[in-house]
Amino acid sequence: MADFTTFLHFPISRCGIHVHESCYGGLPVADPEETRWFCEPCQYGLIEPPHCEFCPSRFGAFKRADISGRWAHAVCSLYTHGVTWSQEHTTTGVSWENLENSVFGRRVCTACSDKIEARFGVASRCESGMCKEYMHVTCAQKLGLLVDETDESDDVIVAVPRYFFCKKHTNQENLKTFQRRFEQWEKAEGRRITVHRRKKALSGAEDALRIQMRETLEETIREEDRGKSNGSVAGGEKIKQARLLNSSTEFFDRFETKAEDSGLSKKEFRDPFYDIKLTNASHVPIGFSKEYIE
Ligand SMILES: [Zn+2]
Ligand SMILES: [Zn+2]
Ligand SMILES: [Zn+2]
Ligand SMILES: [Zn+2]
Repeated sequence: MADFTTFLHFPISRCGIHVHESCYGGLPVADPEETRWFCEPCQYGLIEPPHCEFCPSRFGAFKRADISGRWAHAVCSLYTHGVTWSQEHTTTGVSWENLENSVFGRRVCTACSDKIEARFGVASRCESGMCKEYMHVTCAQKLGLLVDETDESDDVIVAVPRYFFCKKHTNQENLKTFQRRFEQWEKAEGRRITVHRRKKALSGAEDALRIQMRETLEETIREEDRGKSNGSVAGGEKIKQARLLNSSTEFFDRFETKAEDSGLSKKEFRDPFYDIKLTNASHVPIGFSKEYIE
């Protein structure tokens, strides 16, 4: 099971997030003596945590997507089937280009209490045979259901497929203990984000390191994607796919804030979305309708 309490490989980022190397990956810093480190959202100077492409949670460690301005949890990208990376061995540039559009928002997360959030992103299926339980990766994580058999005892980390079983099919022990610890971690995350918001500006040297790390990240994504596309995509810019508005945590959040600013209550905004049938959204034509965003 992924243990989120012991993180030894990387120093702590500017925002106070701790990450584990096998979960976060990442690119080496130019100076091996360097002890400061920036997680990817910090490299971009984000104050608020980004939105994950796959789930509703704002807590935890995020990675940049191969498309600029888009983000995903490190854990969501590792556990969502079909996700790839611009550079696989460092899990740099999270990509969902191999995932069908219709996968987003299709399944309802059975662990989410909010019916709208339950359809954000991608709910993944329990690994047990014919089981029909779907959950967000972070929701399964919260319940202690993730299985990670990555062996780190040797120098070489052997990455194995990661998966989860639902509550009925899990054989994980001590779920209650895990859930209690996770709740504590969530509280700490809330505090970490508040503290990060109030931090003073970076020093010149810190900012130089931040920019250097970001440039390495962007260069890596660009180089790797150029190698793969063989020049078939002009300018290396990936084609954006249309997506159901209510399957995107970020866009839903933005529209909701906008609606609230213009005097609509949260309930008034959310109510129509409860009626949208998404079990097979493919019949909805992609276009400039209220259900679709780009
Ligand atoms: Zn950070
Ligand atoms: Zn996520
Ligand atoms: Zn969920
Ligand atoms: Zn199951």
